[in-house]
Amino acid sequence: VFNFSAGPSMLPLPVLEKAQHQLLNYENTGMSVMEMSHRSSAYMNIIEEAEQLLRTLMNIPQNYKVLFLQGGASLQFSMIPLNLLTTSKKADFIHTGTWSKKAIAEAKKYGNVRVVASSEDKNFSYIPNLTDMTWDDDADYVHITTNNTIEGTRFTSLPDTKSIPLVADMSSNILSEHYDVPKFGLIYAGAQKNIGPAGLTVIIVREDLIGKAGADCPVMLDYSTHVKAQSMYNTPPTYSIYIAKLVFEWLRDLGGVQEIEKQNHEKAKLLYGFIDESALFSSPVAVKDRSLMNIPFTTPSDELNNQFLKEAKVNGLESLKGHRSVGGMRASIYNAMPIEGVQALVDIMKKFEYNNR
Ligand code: PLP
Repeated sequence: VFNFSAGPSMLPLPVLEKAQHQLLNYENTGMSVMEMSHRSSAYMNIIEEAEQLLRTLMNIPQNYKVLFLQGGASLQFSMIPLNLLTTSKKADFIHTGTWSKKAIAEAKKYGNVRVVASSEDKNFSYIPNLTDMTWDDDADYVHITTNNTIEGTRFTSLPDTKSIPLVADMSSNILSEHYDVPKFGLIYAGAQKNIGPAGLTVIIVREDLIGKAGADCPVMLDYSTHVKAQSMYNTPPTYSIYIAKLVFEWLRDLGGVQEIEKQNHEKAKLLYGFIDESALFSSPVAVKDRSLMNIPFTTPSDELNNQFLKEAKVNGLESLKGHRSVGGMRASIYNAMPIEGVQALVDIMKKFEYNNR
């Protein structure tokens, strides 16, 4: 089947096959990676290689730390203010969807949060105009969600925050297109879309932003704890990190972010192209802000939507139901979705449209 789930989502088939091959006996250790001490030399090699691969793929400069933690992107909604909202205690947010709403609500517990711009007036179907945005001069950070998983929008350019650190939730589009890491103070992402299995969260943080948490910050929520211990303060999500390493190798061998970005544009173009010419299906999202990863679409009625979902499932197209806040359908076409999957979806949509003229 082709799995269009928003997350956890498809993993590249060669990654699953390699994991299957190594499941019982990892490189002649006689053990599964799942059974290994996280402090064994075999496992230390895995986590170090995973970090090096990610550094190469994203071109991460040396003055940034890479952390492999737990708690999902949702725990970062708390960790970021606990660690960064500590000088002026002011933060500026661009509010673009369900996930930024959660990030804002959590940050408000720790300081003065200003929503600089919001697209809530139109059900988050667009990204606010960035050109005339202004920031609080002494804000501790500006927060954005680079790709809005539920609403299907993405920032096609970044706000110029001058010297204020830009913090980005990249959960649903990390590694899908090129980002210039030095433009950010901190990047975070739950792994379960473009990186690997759920249970792992990746944080890329500039060194000067570490060590600012207050004395009352719980030790597990302080970035400096994990930086000092190189993500080994406690037992890390060892198997998820191992699979992430395999995904990073797969992406490297494919040609890296540059190549996958090209493929992602081709996949998205195929689906948007059909939606735009269709008399039955339509997209609720502003054309200029369309996501490459999550593509919501709908027919004119709930009845037709449900019928389409049933037919898609019978044909091996899984998890196309849209989020309850948006309705209709949503195709999540992350890095691991082959173009054949998108073509299969377009073929079913064409057939459905023909039968429901
Ligand atoms: N942020 C974005 C953009 C997401 O898409 C998600 C989950 O889908 C989250 C945050 C929450 O992630 P987690 O479930 O890892 O806490």
